[in-house]
Amino acid sequence: MAEFMELEGQDGVRMAWNVVPGTKQEASNCVVPVSAIYTPIKPFPNMPVLPYAPLRCRNCRSVLNPFSIVDFAAKIWICPFCFQRNHFPPHYASISDENLPAELFPQYTTIEYQSPGEASSLPPVFMFVLDTSIIEEEMAFLKSSLSQAIGLLPDNSLVGLITFGTLVHVHELGFGAIPKTYVFKGSKDVSKDQLLEQMSFFLNKPKPTTGVIAGARDGLSSESIARFLLPASECEFALNSVLEELQKDPWPIPADQRATRCTSTALSVAASLLGACVPGSGARIMAFIGGPSTEGPGAIVSKNLSEPIRSHKDLDKDSAPHYHKAVKFYEALAKQLVHQGHVLDLFACALDQVGVAELKVAVERTGGLVVLAESFGHSVFKDSLRRVFQSEDKDLGISSNGIFEINCSKDIKVQGILGPCASLEKKGPLCSDTIVGQGSTSAWKMCGLDQATSLCLIFEIVKKDIPDSTVQSSGNQFYFQFLTYYQHSTGEMRLRVTTLSRRWVAGPGSIQDLIAGFDQEAAAVVMARFVSFKMEIEAEFDPIRWLDKALIHICSRFGDYQKDSPSSFSLSPRFSIFPQFMFHLRRSQFVQVFNNSPDETAYFRMILNRENVANSVVMIQPSLISYSFQSAPEPALLDVAAIAADRILLLDSYFTIVIFHGSTIAQWRKAGYHNQPEHQAFAQLLQAPRGDADAIIKERFPVPRLVICDQHGSQARFLLAKLNPSATYNSDGHHPGGDIIFTDDVSFEVFLDHLQRLAVQ
Ligand SMILES: [Zn+2]
Repeated sequence: MAEFMELEGQDGVRMAWNVVPGTKQEASNCVVPVSAIYTPIKPFPNMPVLPYAPLRCRNCRSVLNPFSIVDFAAKIWICPFCFQRNHFPPHYASISDENLPAELFPQYTTIEYQSPGEASSLPPVFMFVLDTSIIEEEMAFLKSSLSQAIGLLPDNSLVGLITFGTLVHVHELGFGAIPKTYVFKGSKDVSKDQLLEQMSFFLNKPKPTTGVIAGARDGLSSESIARFLLPASECEFALNSVLEELQKDPWPIPADQRATRCTSTALSVAASLLGACVPGSGARIMAFIGGPSTEGPGAIVSKNLSEPIRSHKDLDKDSAPHYHKAVKFYEALAKQLVHQGHVLDLFACALDQVGVAELKVAVERTGGLVVLAESFGHSVFKDSLRRVFQSEDKDLGISSNGIFEINCSKDIKVQGILGPCASLEKKGPLCSDTIVGQGSTSAWKMCGLDQATSLCLIFEIVKKDIPDSTVQSSGNQFYFQFLTYYQHSTGEMRLRVTTLSRRWVAGPGSIQDLIAGFDQEAAAVVMARFVSFKMEIEAEFDPIRWLDKALIHICSRFGDYQKDSPSSFSLSPRFSIFPQFMFHLRRSQFVQVFNNSPDETAYFRMILNRENVANSVVMIQPSLISYSFQSAPEPALLDVAAIAADRILLLDSYFTIVIFHGSTIAQWRKAGYHNQPEHQAFAQLLQAPRGDADAIIKERFPVPRLVICDQHGSQARFLLAKLNPSATYNSDGHHPGGDIIFTDDVSFEVFLDHLQRLAVQ
């Protein structure tokens, strides 16, 4: 695994197959698709940033890279993608093999270009959209967090404020001493034209005659814009006084009804306002939502309390009456935002569901951030919001206006991307007919991206067969180039270029090579994103069956065994923990959705879809560390057998971190031993997992929930739910013939036993 992490450390890429199956048939036998998890703007302290424009192939537009073949005498380079011969321009005249430009250095497979004079003058824009249909206590929490955030905004940023409940209020912050708002009915979507009309942008000007206002800035004076979007340095006072005065939604709520909450109308007004004022700039709508949307086109439930909010069962039976309409609304909103280049961030803080499942499309396509917490007072929300604006310590590296493009060798096509981006519908020979996620394109918009954002690219190998003469050649290389244009957090435009080369193999002798190049962690993460995607788009899809079939197929192909002899079965170290990953994936929140609400599932999947391999592996298979007097902290098996009275366990399941005190430890702690000077060692033992948990919490966004619990306590379920149930081992274990290993909550031993039996058949 170390070598794959080294490659990730150089290029921000992990591939499931680092030796690529070379033909269509070969790739299909490999089950896990040829794929890459790529972190486009992963920070690399030693990466050169070149102060000039990249050199491009005049045929395929790919960028000069270390894999190009260079003829220094003739001053020509050959493009590894299309084999075009390109002349170096005059300013490269002095190059030689002793005098290489940085982009040809073999170690600079990832490099950035920063074009001079392209620095953007557009300031970052934040449009806060606040739910006021919440109780006073929540309102107070929200105000306090926001006023703290406002203090952290970059001085040059522009800020706007919209509040909503029964009605939508657009606050005119630039009006001076007297607060002024524009009010919109919440029940009805407002078009951009209506919005501009009502806000009298054109008061002193003839209205432009063309109907196309979208994306055009003409017609809007900067004074008009300055009424609603103010520099943070000028409006901190105005904004804080509006917040101070802000009341919860005043409309009475009958006892048998939910509060009126027109979330979708408010977001639509926010999007149109930004579209009119700052199209193409890195603007973010930051939505703070404290309950279910009950009004307008994106309502997820009626106001009538007798109607429950949709569950996974309702969605499964297609009996969630508002769901499709709301999703359709948010799909259109996503399209509008992508067109404008704007981001939707969602902070959903409520005990109820608020509609994350419906909003998911708009957040994910625009690369928005999402945080789900029980309350605006919870540390998961408060600390996460602070992290967004905190620039010194653990900067998220939030960037904007990204465009992602791919070039590949001609035998490779792109099926699509699973991750936070939107297709730019740039069709071409590179696009596969099979579409996964955002597909049928070779360019994607990433309105918002940060240092952690990781895309999962799914490829297709199209080569039909291999002429005999080339089969054993060692020079068979596939090339991939990833291009990311983006606005760096400093404001300047950058182009990140990553060029990769991977050897391909085909034919009977290729299995050992494929095994050597298999990255089981990356493969598990690809399978997790893939199965989540299929569960969302395919009706009647059976994820357990699909995963089991895939795993059995992989084990029969890459395992070592004699036919029909399960006991002879073994896997190479490259594959050895893959079955365990699949076991935990089957049990995970991504597959066992019925244990959660649709909002929670949407949330978990949105985070999975944007995280890198290491973080995603923790989501699939939580890590467990054991602390005791007997030894230094050590990793423990994710099994109920890890629990002991004299141990502390630290479970990291990504979204939740659990510190679990064994019963003896809990007793000593309750007795206050750790406060007595003679029990200093115990105090240190208690403190050790706290320190480690704090270190994790500091690194992570969204900030995870911390649960501290005792053996036999009610909170212990947070740990128990994640452990392998080996102690309940009670299987007679005979399921002849079927390709389903088991559908119940079986132990890993039973699972593995069945897997081996089926794989050797
Ligand atoms: Zn080319």
